[in-house]
Amino acid sequence: MKRHTEHHRTHRVGWLRAAVLGANDGIVSTASLIVGVAAAESSRANVLVAGIAGLVAGAMSMAAGEYVSVSSQSDTENADLDRERVELATDAVNEHEELAAIYVARGLDTQLAGEVATQLMAKDALGAHARDELGISDTLSARPVQAAMASAATFAVGAAMPLLLVVFVPSSALVWAVSGSSLLFLALLGGLAARAGGSPVLKSVARVTFWGALAMAMTAGVGALFGATV
Ligand SMILES: [Zn+2]
Repeated sequence: MKRHTEHHRTHRVGWLRAAVLGANDGIVSTASLIVGVAAAESSRANVLVAGIAGLVAGAMSMAAGEYVSVSSQSDTENADLDRERVELATDAVNEHEELAAIYVARGLDTQLAGEVATQLMAKDALGAHARDELGISDTLSARPVQAAMASAATFAVGAAMPLLLVVFVPSSALVWAVSGSSLLFLALLGGLAARAGGSPVLKSVARVTFWGALAMAMTAGVGALFGATV
């Protein structure tokens, strides 16, 4: 039997895109916070405290947001599965027809579609309906805890990059060093995600660095303003 050799991006892109978006958020929000506090001419200790607080707050809010949204998706999936279970128990004939019709719509002839539906429902009726009627499969089903942890972790990794600079770079150079290197990190991540997803690299890099630069410029402006007036 011929080995399955062609390489599909879809199953790789999903989690990579989530990871890159999480890291982007971490870089942009923490670097902007650091640049803003540094522009107010705060001490290195204050900038560091603000950066660490930003990392923890950001990671927790990402985790909370992801947990809530994926949990509601999981609730919806479970409600659909419960309804399907009842329908299979009370109206198996109609459910069989429904499944066969899905296979006919996908290109099977009526007789073969009926046979496939019969055999799949004999093996695992709920599984067949979940996958082919509801679009719920094991690989795609909602996992709130994993999603929350992955989101918090990628945010924290992104946030750690500008934060490390606060430790090593002299205070006087912090604003430029953090914004410059954060834009570089963003460009690298944007390029990586675009390459993995097969989308135009330059466009993706331009898009993410533009918004990152805007966010840092705005917070630097606010920080400088408050630094001068307070
Ligand atoms: Zn069904």
